[in-house]
Amino acid sequence: MPKQARINGIKSYRCYTSSEAAELVGVSKRTLHNWTRDGLQILDCERPALIRGDDLRDYILKQRQSAKVKTGLCEFYCLKCRDSRSAYGAMADCKISGNRAMLTALCDTCETVVCKPVSLARLPEIGRTLDLTIKGDGATL
Ligand SMILES: [Zn+2]
Repeated sequence: MPKQARINGIKSYRCYTSSEAAELVGVSKRTLHNWTRDGLQILDCERPALIRGDDLRDYILKQRQSAKVKTGLCEFYCLKCRDSRSAYGAMADCKISGNRAMLTALCDTCETVVCKPVSLARLPEIGRTLDLTIKGDGATL
């Protein structure tokens, strides 16, 4: 799994050279160079070229967003497949706590345990697709 770039130390009002920026977010200079080709704004009227802190942070956040996989209401994100998957046998365990429920199922492709939190309000809808086994503090649907 690739290391995630750090955004905590980025100061939005500061400008960084590409080596400073690479070190700050914990990526190689080559990765940073790829980012600038991929759309990260640089101020190249200056030498050396500078990167604004807020541009750098926005770029990394946008990149994280696009790496997210959309899962349907009755689908799960499988860490092993790294993709959205249906529940094996259309079955899921459902553990209720408060107004949240944790669904646990097996990936229909690799049978790895997958889980996701859902709101209690969605359970009746999910229950039409998945065979839910409720395990919890006695709450009923
Ligand atoms: Zn899987």
